[in-house]
Amino acid sequence: MIRAHRIRLYPNNVQTTYLSKACGVARFAYNWALARTKELYELDNEHKFNEMALRRELNAIKKEQFPWMLEVTKCAPQLAIKEGLNRAFKNFFEKRADFPRFHKKGVHDSFSISNDHFKIRDTHVQIAKLGEVRLSEQLRFEGRVLSATVSRTADHWYISIQVEITKPEPIHSAISESQAVGVDVGVASLAVLSDGSVIKGNKPGRKYEKRLRRAQQSLSRKKGAHKGEKKSNNYRKQQRKVSRIHEKIANSRNDSLHKLTSMLTQNYSLIGIEDLNVKGMVKNHNLAKSIHDQSWSEFGRQLAYKADATGSYVHYSDRFFASSQLCSECGCQNAEAKDLSVREWACPECGATHDRDQNAAENLKNDAVKAVFGAA
Ligand SMILES: [Zn+2]
Repeated sequence: MIRAHRIRLYPNNVQTTYLSKACGVARFAYNWALARTKELYELDNEHKFNEMALRRELNAIKKEQFPWMLEVTKCAPQLAIKEGLNRAFKNFFEKRADFPRFHKKGVHDSFSISNDHFKIRDTHVQIAKLGEVRLSEQLRFEGRVLSATVSRTADHWYISIQVEITKPEPIHSAISESQAVGVDVGVASLAVLSDGSVIKGNKPGRKYEKRLRRAQQSLSRKKGAHKGEKKSNNYRKQQRKVSRIHEKIANSRNDSLHKLTSMLTQNYSLIGIEDLNVKGMVKNHNLAKSIHDQSWSEFGRQLAYKADATGSYVHYSDRFFASSQLCSECGCQNAEAKDLSVREWACPECGATHDRDQNAAENLKNDAVKAVFGAA
């Protein structure tokens, strides 16, 4: 199993200059190899992209023609061609993407390093020709370190470290009904569980949404916002402000999701949940939609890989399963509960009173138990 851990870097000024330079070298090598391939194409339509030949060619001339490339780890130019451009061409040849485009400065700035050119020590990473850079936290995984990619988001630097880990012994050796839980992922709170507990999660949402909206409005008024207009310095400055807010939202959201998915997979062997694709579509029209759509897919991704490690089973209820309309006591369906504004209701058949979200979570739990153990 390969896991990646993305950690914030705290470089000093000198180190920041190095990191920017390494990104520049990676971008230059990528663009150089792309231009060279285009050139060879024009001479000969049969020409095949050959990353190894390109790297050799660049190596042979860089000392003479591009001596500044030698100031950073040699992985930066090499891996930009061997991995980055190679992947772009592979996607192109396998018809998953358009012909590779040139990289622009300031857009997804990054460079990669192979495992023999950096070392992790507690809360520091040692990078060739750079020295030790402080990390915000320790590497989460134990195992063989494969490679790393350093990137810039807004004005912050991150290193994403790929680690090959051996699969741990699962926590749950069997799926049991007593360890089953239903999860209603929500908007008001992050999630409500079938046992009635409410998981609040960080709420960056409203505060940052307002700030984001204001920052985006301001951006649209800056010179450079319209197509064809030259981007002004103020425009770029504002652009960075917008991406910093996006980054804060994403970090805070991911943190909450990690806590929730860890708690669920460690404590429960059977997790019942509704089809997250549908959830994202129907419930979120009034919130910053793109943010929430992303978190559903991230939530599903985390749940899947953590359940795989702990031995939990995740059951997704069918998209037509009316989790919020069924009475979790007697099973009858109450169409009046379909309306999202109905937060509490009494069952017309058995009289049980329900909190909308908890009742939905109980139904999702029952559905998962039924799917695994059959009807009672
Ligand atoms: Zn009932």
